[in-house]
Parts: sequence; structure tokens; C-alpha cells
Amino acid sequence: DCEHNIQLQPLVQDCLVLVDHLLSRGGIEVICDFDDVPPVRADSGEIQQVVVNLIVNATQAMGGAGRLQIGLRPEARDGAAGVALTVQDSGPGVPEDVLSSVFDPFFTTKPGEGTGLGLSISQTLIQRAGGIITVRNRSGGGAAFSVWLPEATGEE
Ligand code: ADP
Ligand code: MG
Repeated sequence: DCEHNIQLQPLVQDCLVLVDHLLSRGGIEVICDFDDVPPVRADSGEIQQVVVNLIVNATQAMGGAGRLQIGLRPEARDGAAGVALTVQDSGPGVPEDVLSSVFDPFFTTKPGEGTGLGLSISQTLIQRAGGIITVRNRSGGGAAFSVWLPEATGEE
């Protein structure tokens, strides 16, 4: 298969290069808060697709200038070691009544523009890697998406 032990820090940095034109065009300030994190076992192309999706969504939600915060930190979940990747924006957040729908296939609040598939596919890819993706609204405004992935174990 295509799964390998991958380092998330350089992967996120590659994603920021891929979407640099969107971020600089909008005047978006990017703040990275990266702790040292262990490798995870996943398909790097798939995880990159998820991270780009989250950044593009954040950019669209902010609709111009704003602040994008990306974090990496070690986090245990149900006793399993892993890594939490968070993508937070300073946009309006997800309306409370649709918070539970954003991962549904074809759910979009961007009529004529969005496919509503980005988060649905992202959830499938993260679950395939043994992880979980969640969303909440930040107390100070904006959306916060979290991806948790289990730490790689054993050999490459
Ligand atoms: P699309 O971007 O094509 O609409 P997605 O699956 O990527 O589809 O996202 C589904 C919906 O989730 C969006 O239409 C939007 O309503 C909501 N959403 C996703 N990310 C954010 C965000 N950062 N802030 C606010 N709402 C968001
Ligand atoms: Mg999208």
C-alpha cells in the first residue's frame, strides 16, 4: 500500500507552499505552532489533501484578511499515542445548526460554488489512517478543525 511513516511538520509546510498564492492574495497571516511530534503512519498524499482542504476552507470562510493558525502537538487519545494537527481561522465559524453536518457528502453552504465533498473525503481519508477529524467553534470566533492521527509504530 501507500502508507509510510511520515513527518507532519514538513508535510504541513509543503501544503502552505501549495496554497501560498491564496494566502498572500487574501492578506492572511499564518501562525504555525509546531511542537516536536512523532511520525504517523499514513499516505502522505492523502494527508496533504486533507490539510490543503482545511486551509482552503479556512481561507474561503475568512473571505479576505484574517489569521490562520496551524498547530502540531503530541496527544494521546484513548490511551493511544498520536499527533493532533489543528487548523484554526478567524472567520465567522460554522453556524451551530450545521456543525453536525459539515462532514456529510455534498453538504455545502456555498451554493453554485462548493461541491460539499472536501470534508467528507477528508474524513474518509483520516479514518482510513486510523485517525479522527473533528470541528468546533472557538470561543473568540472562528472555526477550529482538529485531526488526530495515531503515532507510527515499528518499522518503516
Ligand atoms: P465546500 O467547501 O465545497 O462547501 P466542504 O466539505 O469543504 O465543502 O465544507 C462543507 C461546509 O462546511 C462548507 O460549505 C461550510 O459551510 C463549512 N465549513 C468548512 N470549513 C469551514 C470554516 N473554516 N469556517 C466555516 N465554515 C466552514
Ligand atoms: Mg471545501
